[in-house]
Amino acid sequence: MQRFFGPVAITLIAASVLVAQTPPTPDAAETNKAVQEIIRAISPDSIRIYDNTLASFGTRHTMSDTNSATRGIGAARRWISAKFSSFAKSDPYFKVYEDRFTLEGVPRISKPTELVNVYGVLRGKEGPEGRYIVISGHYDSRCTDIMNYTSDAPGADDDGSGSSLVLEAARAFTSTRFRPDANIIFICFAGEEQGLYGSEHFAMEARKKSLNIIADLNNDIVGSIRGGNGEVISNMVRVFSQGYQEMKLGSRDINPDVIGYVSDSPSRELARYIHAAGDEFLPNFRTSLIFRQDRFLRGGDHASFNKYGYAAVRFTEPNEDYRHQHQDVRVENDKVDGRNVKVLYGDLPQFVDSSYVARVCRINSLTAALLSISPPAPANAVMLVDKLEYGTRFRWDNPLHGVGIAGWKIYYRKSAQPEWQGCVFVNGSENPTLEYDLATMSKDDYIFGIATVGKNGAESITVAPPPGK
Ligand SMILES: [Zn+2]
Repeated sequence: MQRFFGPVAITLIAASVLVAQTPPTPDAAETNKAVQEIIRAISPDSIRIYDNTLASFGTRHTMSDTNSATRGIGAARRWISAKFSSFAKSDPYFKVYEDRFTLEGVPRISKPTELVNVYGVLRGKEGPEGRYIVISGHYDSRCTDIMNYTSDAPGADDDGSGSSLVLEAARAFTSTRFRPDANIIFICFAGEEQGLYGSEHFAMEARKKSLNIIADLNNDIVGSIRGGNGEVISNMVRVFSQGYQEMKLGSRDINPDVIGYVSDSPSRELARYIHAAGDEFLPNFRTSLIFRQDRFLRGGDHASFNKYGYAAVRFTEPNEDYRHQHQDVRVENDKVDGRNVKVLYGDLPQFVDSSYVARVCRINSLTAALLSISPPAPANAVMLVDKLEYGTRFRWDNPLHGVGIAGWKIYYRKSAQPEWQGCVFVNGSENPTLEYDLATMSKDDYIFGIATVGKNGAESITVAPPPGK
C-alpha cells in the first residue's frame, strides 16, 4: 500500500464501497525530490572512513583516557565534534552542541567520570519550541570486561556503525541544504555500555524541558551482514519497538490489552511509519518489524526515550555475531563443524560492511526527512463510544487550524493483523475540531489509526484514538 505522495490505495472490505484519493498536491513532487536527494547523498565511502577512524582510537570506553590526541574516548569525541562542525560550515541552520555531566558512585563507573553526548541540531522552521526528531547511536565501546578501560575495544560495529550512520545522516542533510519544519537532532551518546547513562541524561533533560520529541531512531549494531550462524543478509534491518507502558485519556487510565490496542503504542506507530516509508522509497531493502523493546539480555538507548514517554525504535542488523561484540581482540582455537580453526575475536572494522550501514542510514534519513516536513499528528483524537451503533465515529482537533493540511487518513486493520490494510481519506478543513463517521466499519472488528496529511504529500505518524466520549 503506497503511503506517501500518491493516490491512497483503498482496500475494499466486504461490501463497503470506500474509495478515496488524496487531492493532487503540487508540492508533492518537490518534496519527493528533496527526499530522494538526501537518499542519494548518503555514501558508503564516507561511512567507511568514519568507522575506521572511530576504531582507530583504540578504545572508546567511557572511563578511558580523555587527554590523548590519538587514543581514548576524549580523542574520539573531539573528532566527532569536529566532524559535526565541518558540516555546520555548509549549513547555517546546523549547530553543534555537547551535553556534559559527571557520574560517580553508580554501577559500572569506578571513578568520577565526565560523560559527554555530542550532537548537532538542524534547526527547523518551527524553531526551538517545535517538534524534534532524533537520529542516535552511541560512540562509547567496551571489551570483554566491562570495567576494563585500557585494553583495545575498537567497537567498529557496536556502535561505530551507529555513530558513523549518525554522522553520515548529518552530512547528507546539511550538504543538500534540506529545510525541515521540525528540528532534527543527530546525536552520539556516551555511557551506553556502562548502563545507558548518556541517553538517560539526555532524555530526562528533554522531558524536564518538555521538548516535543516525536521520534527517536536509535541505531546500535547496524554494520554486519554475516551472522555468527554463517548466514549473510544484506537487504534487511530489524526494527524493535515496544508496546504500551501506559495509555491515558485525560486522567483516565486505559488498559490497552483489554481494548485491543496493545500494538498501537506511539513506538509501534513509528515502526509502521518506517516500514511504509521504506517500502515506498527503498523497495530493495526491507524492515523487519519486531514487536518487543529489544533482543533478550540486551538493551539500548531507545529505552531511555521510552522511559521518559517518547516514541523510539531500535535498528539492529538481522543476524549478529557475538564473537565480534563485547570481546577482547584475540585469536582463539575453536571448533567449527568439527574442524579445528583459528577464530578472530573482537569488534573490528573488517567485519563492518559500509554499504549495509549506508542502507540503514538511508531508511533513517528518509524517515526523519518525511517526518520533519509532515504536519503534526491529530491532537486529542478519540474514537467516540457513547452508544451502541454499527459504524465508527472519530473526533480530533485540527492542528495548525488546517493551514497546509490536505486532510487526514484513517488507517484500518483487522484486530489480529500487525499492519495497516487500507485507509479512508478525509478532506482538510478549517474547523477547529473534526468529526468523521465511518459508517461501514465496526470498531468491534477493526483497529484504527489517524494521520494528518500535508499539502506537500508528507504525512504524520498515526495516532491510535482511545475510546471516549
Ligand atoms: Zn551498543
